[in-house]
Amino acid sequence: MENVLVVGAGFMGLGIGQVCAQAGYQVHLMDIKSAALDRAMSEIKWSLDKLGSKGLLKESPQKILERITPEHDMSSAAKASWVIEAALEIEDLKKQIFQDLDRLTSPETPLATNTSTIPITRLAQATQHPERILGLHFFGPVPLMGLVEVVKGQKTSTAVFERGVAFVKSLGKTPVRVQKDIPGFVMNRIFSAAFREAVDLVAEGITTPEDVDIGMRLGYGWNAGPFEIADNSGLDTSVLIGQTLKALGEENLMPRSDLIERMVKDGRLGRKVGKGFYRYTPDGKRLPWESKDKNNA
Ligand code: NAD
Repeated sequence: MENVLVVGAGFMGLGIGQVCAQAGYQVHLMDIKSAALDRAMSEIKWSLDKLGSKGLLKESPQKILERITPEHDMSSAAKASWVIEAALEIEDLKKQIFQDLDRLTSPETPLATNTSTIPITRLAQATQHPERILGLHFFGPVPLMGLVEVVKGQKTSTAVFERGVAFVKSLGKTPVRVQKDIPGFVMNRIFSAAFREAVDLVAEGITTPEDVDIGMRLGYGWNAGPFEIADNSGLDTSVLIGQTLKALGEENLMPRSDLIERMVKDGRLGRKVGKGFYRYTPDGKRLPWESKDKNNA
C-alpha cells in the first residue's frame, strides 16, 4: 500500500488526509501541535460518519480511519511515495519544511505544496531537487470539493507534473493544469479579485455579507458566496494570504480596507471558532451576524 505524508493537520491537511485514506492510501498526518492532531482525527471521524450515513463511502468509516496515523514528526517521510505540505501560509516556514523533506525523503518522491499563493519555484529553491516540487492546490472542505489545481514550477519535471495529475485523479478529484507559476495561480487570483471588492463594499457600509452571498448565489450561480467561503476557510488564513500577496507585490488582489485584520484581532476567525462574518451554532448552523438571537448562539 502506498504511503502519503501530509504535513500540517489544520483545515486543509485533515481534509487532504481524509480523501487520501478514502482512496486507499496509508496516510501519515503530521502536525507540530497535539491539539491540532486531536481535532483533525475527530473532525475526520465526524466527516466519515456523515458520508457513510449517506451511503457515499465504499468502506466503513472505521476501516478508512484506521489508515490514518497521527504523527508529531516527519520520521515516516522516508517511506512516503507522496508528500503534501499543508502548513501555515508563511513562506519561510514552508521553505524550512521543504528543506527538511528534501533531506528525509527518497529523491524520487514528489513533494507537493498546498500553498494558496506562493510560487512553487520559490519553495523549490530551498531544495536540492526542484524538479520534484509541484503545487497540488486543493479546495476546502476537501472531502466535498472536486477541484485540485496542479501547478508546475519553473523547474518541475514534466514527469512529476503528470504524476501529480494522475495522483489527483486517483483521489477521485478533477485536476486543472496550471502551466505557469504565478502568485495565487489561477483560481485564487480570480477569487481574490471578487473577494477584494466584496470586502470593500461591506467595509464601506454599502451592503452586508449576507446580501453579497445571496447575490452571488442567485445572480451568478455560485454554490456559496464569498463570505461563506471565507468563513469556512478561516479569516486568519485570509490574513496570511494577504500578507503573502503583499510581499509578492500583488496588492492589487487585496481589499483596500483592513476589515479582515480587525475581525481576526477580535477573535472572529470564521466557522472554526463559531464566529466570522456569520455566527455558527454548536451544531454548525449559520446565522447572520446581526440577528436578534445573537446571545443564544
Ligand atoms: P490551518 O491554520 O487550519 O492549519 C495549518 C496547520 O499547520 C496548523 O495545524 C499548524 O499547527 C500546522 N503547522 C504549523 N507549522 C508546522 C510545521 N512546521 N510542521 C507541521 N505542521 C505545522 O491552515 P489551513 O487553512 O489548513 O491552510 C494550510 C495551507 O493550505 C496554507 O498554505 C493555506 O494557504 C492553504 N490553503 C488553504 C485553504 C483554505 O480554504 N483554508 C484552501 C487552499 C489552500
